[in-house]
Amino acid sequence: MRMEKHPLWRRHSSITLETNRAPSGLLELAQNMAMVSPLHPWPSSTAPVSPHALQLIQTLVRMNTVSHRSNLELIQFVQDELKKLGVASRITRNADKTKANLFATLGEGKPAGIILSGHTDTVPWDGQDWTLEPLSATVRDGKLYGRGSCDMKGFIGMALAHAGDFLNSAAPFAVHLALSYDEEVGCMGVKGLIADLKDAGIAPLACIVGEPTGMLPATAHKGVYRYKCCVRGREAHSSLTPQSVNAIEMAARLICKLRDMAEGFEASEPRYEGFDVPFSTASVGQFHGGIADNVVPRDAEFRYEFRNLPTADVSSMQKEVLAFAERVQPAMKKIAPESGFSFETLCEVPAFLGSANDAVTRLAQRLAAADRTTLVAFGTEAGLFKNAGIPSVVCGPGSIEQAHQPDEFVSLEQLARCEAFMRALASTRTIS
Ligand SMILES: [Zn+2]
Repeated sequence: MRMEKHPLWRRHSSITLETNRAPSGLLELAQNMAMVSPLHPWPSSTAPVSPHALQLIQTLVRMNTVSHRSNLELIQFVQDELKKLGVASRITRNADKTKANLFATLGEGKPAGIILSGHTDTVPWDGQDWTLEPLSATVRDGKLYGRGSCDMKGFIGMALAHAGDFLNSAAPFAVHLALSYDEEVGCMGVKGLIADLKDAGIAPLACIVGEPTGMLPATAHKGVYRYKCCVRGREAHSSLTPQSVNAIEMAARLICKLRDMAEGFEASEPRYEGFDVPFSTASVGQFHGGIADNVVPRDAEFRYEFRNLPTADVSSMQKEVLAFAERVQPAMKKIAPESGFSFETLCEVPAFLGSANDAVTRLAQRLAAADRTTLVAFGTEAGLFKNAGIPSVVCGPGSIEQAHQPDEFVSLEQLARCEAFMRALASTRTIS
């Protein structure tokens, strides 16, 4: 979706970080915000993490917010902290009201704001070999350990720790906190938050998603599209195969098709250099089917995914699979009319494509005192914000190598850099 076509921007946007599209009266402000000025270098973090911020982050880490659980304890805590500052929160909930997103504006009344975005949920630790208690939030040897410390309670705790600074900032823009649920299971929660902003006519200027990038602004990531395919055949004694439809074998035809597509991406897709794998990928992750050696299986099920380059057309990928299934199906139905394929979408996380030249990227680069930008291999909410017309960048403390791992940690050095980033954001003015 192009930004200028988005109704949210048409109706409500008063300023924008897309400098070449900014309304003329506010162009100067946007340009100033975007400027990476050698005359105003920001200190490259060195001060240690403040005890207040570290304690807030530890409090968040100690809350169990594994995706399948409620995150309401954390949301309530943040809401209460903001209430102490006199800041109200917008809450959007899931259908059964067990999980919530929080959106708050620090600097109400300013023309538009910069979102600091993070997810509150974490992946589980079942079966992982931890040497520390996953929710202990232990600080040891310059690292804060715990599930979610890196991905991504370090960032959201740090943003919250500086809420008062944002509130009192003389910056010509507000700072928004956007905390979501169910990111780890397919970026489900943030969709409700973005829809709520649109309904409320809130048009943020830009979004910084604080996923772990080592505090380097990341300008692109691949999309993640995951599907389940259920295959219904007709069972029979395995000596009577002509009367049956073998669900596993029909599933295998589609799986081979997926493999062919993957090889096609590798052979001929235009490369996007900078990614570890600079072309789109397809992969089957799970397969189930069959009950006995001598029974032609009636049912089979498999799950697969595409990880598409931001420059690739992902919708054509799934369409190609569906079209192939359509061609396989008639032969199945000839023997058993009830047989066939059915598909279910498990998650759709759009790819993200920003640019090193985007104003929000340059702002993040300046705030992080980073000398370069990067690309990341993992999916984030940035594509969803960008597709909603909000220029975005991914930049947060810690390394993705520690995310989802046993003994997950974020270094205090990274948290200190993140704190310097927050302080620099609160100090940003209309730069002359
Ligand atoms: Zn994450």
